[in-house]
Amino acid sequence: MACHCGLSAPYRDCCGRFHRGEAAAPTAELLMRSRFSAFAVGDEAYLLRTWHPASRPPGAGLDRRVRWTGLEILETTGGSVVHTEGTVRFRAHYRKRGRAGAMEENSRFARVDGRWVYEGGL
Ligand SMILES: [Zn+2]
Repeated sequence: MACHCGLSAPYRDCCGRFHRGEAAAPTAELLMRSRFSAFAVGDEAYLLRTWHPASRPPGAGLDRRVRWTGLEILETTGGSVVHTEGTVRFRAHYRKRGRAGAMEENSRFARVDGRWVYEGGL
């Protein structure tokens, strides 16, 4: 079964490695994918520790009525292994009370102490 983030590897070998702390996402896009997966599996601790300290909220605001069903990466800038900043525009699909919905955001990411973190939406 493919990972929640849309890549073909199984969850345990894809975003699961990042959630378990065995590896850090090497690019902003992979961090974005792993954060979507964290929403899908309800890993609030991962969401908070990959949030920029300057903008990190007290909680990730997980809504148990929302089931995250798919992620599309629309556009990326920077965010590679040689960058310290990047953006990822994405569309996230969900179901809430049986109804399908989607949200779109252009997210800003930065590298802090060598690790990519989420700063917020543009
Ligand atoms: Zn994944």
